[in-house]
Amino acid sequence: MNEQFIWKLRKVVGTQFVLLSAEDLICYGYDAQHVEHRPEAVVRPANADEVQEIIRLANEDGVACTPRGAGTGLSGGSVASHGGFILDLCRMNRLLDIDRENLLATVEPGVVTADLHKAVEAVGLMYPPDPGSMKVSTIGGNVAENAGGLRAIKYGVTKDYIMALEGVSPTGEFFTAGARTMKSVSGYDLARLMCGSEGTLGVFTKIVLKLIPLPKHRRSALASFPTMEDAARAVSGIISAGIMPATLEIMDNVTVKAVEEFKGLGLPTDAGALLLLEVDGAQSQVEEESSQAAEIMKEHKASNVQVAADADERDRIWEGRRAALAALTRVRPTTVLEDATVPRSALAEMVHAVNEIAERHSLMIGTFGHAGDGNLHPTILTDERDHEEMARVEQAIDEIFEVALKLGGTVSGEHGIGFSKARYLPAEMGEGRMNMMRAIKIALDPKGILNPGKVFE
Ligand SMILES: Cc1cc2nc3c(=O)[nH]c(=O)nc-3n(C[C@H](O)[C@H](O)[C@H](O)COP(=O)(O)OP(=O)(O)OC[C@H]3O[C@@H](n4cnc5c(N)ncnc54)[C@H](O)[C@@H]3O)c2cc1C
Repeated sequence: MNEQFIWKLRKVVGTQFVLLSAEDLICYGYDAQHVEHRPEAVVRPANADEVQEIIRLANEDGVACTPRGAGTGLSGGSVASHGGFILDLCRMNRLLDIDRENLLATVEPGVVTADLHKAVEAVGLMYPPDPGSMKVSTIGGNVAENAGGLRAIKYGVTKDYIMALEGVSPTGEFFTAGARTMKSVSGYDLARLMCGSEGTLGVFTKIVLKLIPLPKHRRSALASFPTMEDAARAVSGIISAGIMPATLEIMDNVTVKAVEEFKGLGLPTDAGALLLLEVDGAQSQVEEESSQAAEIMKEHKASNVQVAADADERDRIWEGRRAALAALTRVRPTTVLEDATVPRSALAEMVHAVNEIAERHSLMIGTFGHAGDGNLHPTILTDERDHEEMARVEQAIDEIFEVALKLGGTVSGEHGIGFSKARYLPAEMGEGRMNMMRAIKIALDPKGILNPGKVFE
C-alpha cells in the first residue's frame, strides 16, 4: 500500500477512520486464537456506499482487503495474513427493523449478536443462533462463518435464518441475494453461497434474518458422568428417544476443573464429564422431556442430575459452559482449539480417540463442545516456546482430523477454514469440489483481493 492509496481511503471515510498507528494496528493483528499478522492499515466505513468505494479502489490497485467484524474468529479469517488493509465493519451497527408481521429482523453487519437477541426477545421473538462468543461477535461475522451455537441442535445454525442480504462483490459491485418471502426459488441461491464464505466472496452490508416466537418455558439441568464416553453415549440415548433439547453440551474433567478454578460456580470437579442440557417449549413438554432426559442420563451412569431450580441456577450452568474456552486459556501459555465434528452416533468413538491421542502424545487436552451436534472442541493446552512439544501438538491435530474424517465427519463444524485449516480441507472436499470452489472464487474475485490466503492454501 502506498501513500496515494492511503490518501484515497482517507478521502472515502475521513482521516480519523483510517488507522495507521502501531498501537491500533497491533489490536487488529489477532483474532481469538492466532499469532500476530499486523495489517498495513485499518479502514472503518460508515455505510454501504463507503464499503463499495473502498473495495472498488482495492480491486483497481490490486490491494488485499480483509473484512472484519469483532475478531472473535478462531481460524484466522479476520487477520491480514497476506498484507493490505482490514475493512472493519463495526461502525455499521444499526438494527434497522424488526418486522413482527413477517418475523424478520434487518440489521447492518456490525450489530452484536447478543444485542439482536435482546431486542427481539423484548417483543416476544427469538433469533436462535447463539455462538459462545455472542456478547462480542457480530452478525456479519456470524453470517460469514455460518456460525453455530449452543442452540443449534434444535434450532439450526446461521444459514437457517438468513432470508436475504445485500453486499459488495470483490470487484466493487452492489449485489442482493435471497428474498424476504418465506419461499423463493428464483435464480441460484446466492445467500447460501455467501453464508460461510469467510469474507472471500463478498462483503455484507445489510442482512435480513428470520425470527421465530420465543419459547414460553425452559428448564436446564446438569449431570455428572464417570467418563466422557458415558456422557457421549447418554447423548445418543437422548436423541434416539426422540427428545430434541434446545441445548446439549459436554465438558470433560480438564475443562470442568479449569472453569471451576476461574469462576467458582460450584461445579463437581470430581466428575469425569458433565452434560449440560436445556429443553424449551410449552410447560407440559418441558416437564415431560426434562424428566425423560434425566432418566436416560441416569441409565447411562449419570451419578447426579441437578435440575436448575430458578433463573439464577440456570444462568450459573450456562455461565460455566460459556466460560470454557476462556478458562482453558488460563491453564497454559498457548491454547490450540480445534473444531472436529462427527455424526452424532460417532460421538463416543471420537471422544475415545481424542483421549487416546492426548495420552499417546503426552499432551493436555481439555474437550468441550456441542455434544448434541457431534461438535467437539478438543483444546490442546501447550506452550509455543517449547518446539518439541509443539511438534507433538501438530501431530495430534493431524490425527484428530484424520479420525474425524474417517468417522464421516468434517474438519470444521463451525469455526471455518480461514488459514489455519486450509491444509486439511482438500482431504475432506476431494479434487472436484476444490476445483469448483476455486472456479467460483476466481470468477467473482479475478484479482484475488478479498481475504486472500483464506479457505484455499
Ligand atoms: C469464546 C468463543 C466462543 C465461540 N463460540 C462459538 C460458537 O459457539 N459457535 C461458532 O460458530 N463460533 C464460535 N466462536 C467463533 C467466532 O465467534 C465466530 O466465528 C463468529 O461468527 C465470528 O464473528 P466476528 O464478528 O468476531 O467475526 P470476525 O472474527 O471478525 O470474522 C470472521 C470471518 O468473517 C468475515 N467477515 C466479518 N464480517 C464480514 C462482513 N460484514 N462481510 C463479509 N465477511 C465478513 C471475516 O473476513 C472473517 O473471515 C467462538 C469464539 C470464541 C472466542
